[in-house]
Amino acid sequence: MEYCKKCGLPSTYRGIRIGENGVCNFCDFYDAHSKRLSDHTGLEAFFAERAEAAKEEAKRRGSKFDCVAGLSGGKDSTYVIYQLKHKYGLRVLAFTLDNGFSTPFGVNNVKNALDRLGVEHVRITPDDEILRKFYEKSLQLLKNFCGVCFHLMHYYSYLLASQYDIPLIVNGRTRSQILQSAAAEKGIEPFEISHSLKEFEYQMFGRLVDKLDGYSCIDLLHGVEAEELSYFMYHKVSDEEVLETLERETGWVRPQSNIPHADCWAHPMAEHLSIRKFGYPVRTGEMGVLVREGEVTKEEAAAILEKDMSKYSQVDSEMRERFEERTRQRKGRPA
Ligand SMILES: [Zn+2]
Repeated sequence: MEYCKKCGLPSTYRGIRIGENGVCNFCDFYDAHSKRLSDHTGLEAFFAERAEAAKEEAKRRGSKFDCVAGLSGGKDSTYVIYQLKHKYGLRVLAFTLDNGFSTPFGVNNVKNALDRLGVEHVRITPDDEILRKFYEKSLQLLKNFCGVCFHLMHYYSYLLASQYDIPLIVNGRTRSQILQSAAAEKGIEPFEISHSLKEFEYQMFGRLVDKLDGYSCIDLLHGVEAEELSYFMYHKVSDEEVLETLERETGWVRPQSNIPHADCWAHPMAEHLSIRKFGYPVRTGEMGVLVREGEVTKEEAAAILEKDMSKYSQVDSEMRERFEERTRQRKGRPA
């Protein structure tokens, strides 16, 4: 197996091309744009300018909220909402999507955060049979299910923006999640800002989004316009800084172990499916970004991914059964 000599991504990574110099196209893109991507002052100033524009636009429309943001129970989304309110003075509508995969940890964090954040909050519980249909189809067609939550989170962001006439959506994706598939400017912040659900989903689904657009069960909310920004693209904040702010200001409780995605009980299954389909764990691309940005060394990244590989290559039957039960359509009930 060949690896990019700069970031360590394997030659099997989705969309990769390793040049004759041993460097991959993701590194080439990053290097060509590193000035913009590491201009943290400029990026933060851009976000601040868009936040002010959203306030003015909401005022002009007579909207009750300046922005909408999802609250998953994970640390990043809680921190983002706290900052939107306190650093930027935005009137935030928060929402939580009940996707059937919440952990007691996540549910408890949402509850604690809401006690202290002081924002209006909507809980969305989609029709369970429709959820099951989405998960089942996604597993059949894409051999994964994370895309369903990605779609639904952003679908409801745009739906709420439309219902409440909110000009701005802010999400809590990390810089490495945004940049993990960045080999061109299309659909990638800060180079291109999305103003519709379809534009935004291009980042996750690429050209598949054009095909999905044809499915009757997928509503891309044509006609709904709102600007969507990923908070962490414009703010360089360490994990420790996020955790300290949350503990101090929102009564956050750290998970006992440092498991990523502690707010989703099916995460081991997502890892397992990624390893089976692609041969590498979920955060492979994110690790490549962290190496490029100098946050971890290539060797540290390889060690973390090696651990993920051995941890998730097998899942126990209890997890598998629970997962299958959750993602299968139930017979005899109309979808
Ligand atoms: Zn590379």
